[in-house]
Amino acid sequence: MIVTELKPLEEILESVSPYSTVLIAGCDGCTQPPRSIKEAENLSRLLELGGRRRGEHARPYFKVTTIPKQCDSHLVATALREQLQGIEAVLSLGCGAGVQTIVGVFPDLVVLPAQNTLFIGMEDREGHLLEERCAACGDCLLGLTGGICPVTRCAKGLLNGPCGGCSNGKCEVDPEKDCAWYLIIKQLEKQGRLDTLEEIRPPRDFQTVIRPGRIIERLEEVKQ
Ligand code: SF4
Ligand code: SF4
Repeated sequence: MIVTELKPLEEILESVSPYSTVLIAGCDGCTQPPRSIKEAENLSRLLELGGRRRGEHARPYFKVTTIPKQCDSHLVATALREQLQGIEAVLSLGCGAGVQTIVGVFPDLVVLPAQNTLFIGMEDREGHLLEERCAACGDCLLGLTGGICPVTRCAKGLLNGPCGGCSNGKCEVDPEKDCAWYLIIKQLEKQGRLDTLEEIRPPRDFQTVIRPGRIIERLEEVKQ
C-alpha cells in the first residue's frame, strides 16, 4: 500500500483559496489510511469550517467525488470527465502518482495535492502502525535476506550489515527500532541459511531503475 498523510489544513486552505469551485477527489485504491468518498466529504466540511474561521468572504465551493484508482488513466478519465463542468481545480486525496495521473489525463486542469506521500508500507493492525517496507529499488534482495528489506529497514540502507552500532538488537540511529541486520541474521539462522551472508554484496546498481521507471510489456500482459 502507499502510505500517505494529510497536509496541514492551513496549507490546503492556502492552496485552494484562489479558486471558487474545487472538486475534492478521493481514491478507492491502495492509499492508506483510506481516502475515499467519506474522507473527501470530511475534508470538505473541515475546509469550509477552516475558511469561515479565516474570515474569508469568497471561499471555494467544494464538490466531492471518488475515483476507483487515481493512478489509472482510464479510470480517471471515466470517473472525472462528467464531473469537471464548472470546476476550477481538483484537490486530490490520492498519492503523488494519482495527482500526476489526473494532470496527465486533463493537462489544462489545476490539480492540487491534499496529501504528502510517504512510502510503500505495511499495516500492522495489532500495533496500529503503518511502516515502510519497500523503496522500489528495482533489485530485490529479499531472497537473500530472509524476507527483511535492508534498503528500507536499515537506517543506513546497508547491504552488508550490521554496522558497528547495533546494540541489544536495536539500531544506533533510532534505538526504538530493531536493527534490520540483527533481524536478518536471526531469520537466516532460524532457516539454516547463514551461509548466504558469506558473500559480500556489491554496491547497489542504480541503473536498475532509471527514473522515471517505465515498463511497456506490463501493459501488454494486462491486455492479454
Ligand atoms: S530490496 Fe527492499 S527496496 Fe528493494 S525491491 Fe526488495 S523490498 Fe523493495
Ligand atoms: S544498527 Fe542496524 S539498522 Fe541501524 S544502521 Fe546499523 S545496521 Fe542499520
